Amino acid sequence: MAIRNIRIMGDRVLNKTSRPVEVMTPKLRTLIQDMFDTMYEAAGVGLAAPQVGILKRIVVIDVEEEGGQPYVFVNPEILETSGSQTGDEACLSVPGKAGTVTRPDHVKVKAFNENMEPFVLEADDLLARAICHECEHLDGILYVEHVEGELRDVSMEEEE
Ligand code: ZN
Repeated sequence: MAIRNIRIMGDRVLNKTSRPVEVMTPKLRTLIQDMFDTMYEAAGVGLAAPQVGILKRIVVIDVEEEGGQPYVFVNPEILETSGSQTGDEACLSVPGKAGTVTRPDHVKVKAFNENMEPFVLEADDLLARAICHECEHLDGILYVEHVEGELRDVSMEEEE
């Protein structure tokens, strides 16, 4: 188990575009495992590789409490979105803050898993929100750009 340092807003790596993964390597497998460890340790529901300073198109998500359903998305591509949901969002790279963001409430995403096997996933609700949020990190976009109204201060317990 290895916890990596989470980059905080203001770190320029968070504004860069990540590169696609061409081949899975032992180093990238370790990165994926470390990303899960780091996300669970920080009690987050998603983490993108640039948040730990690696500009690769890799996202991990687990929106269930206590590690229910871990998802790895390598080179994710959102194929379709529909509907909308408005709710609170937070980010491990923007600690102590939350804000209201409107996202699609259904997404269809294509990606590769950690074995570089392609899959398509349809997701709703919080999982759809997390996929949108994390995929934007791969293009250097933070949710604060979409916040309606002001970013709010929150206690740790309220953070996603
Ligand atoms: Zn984030």
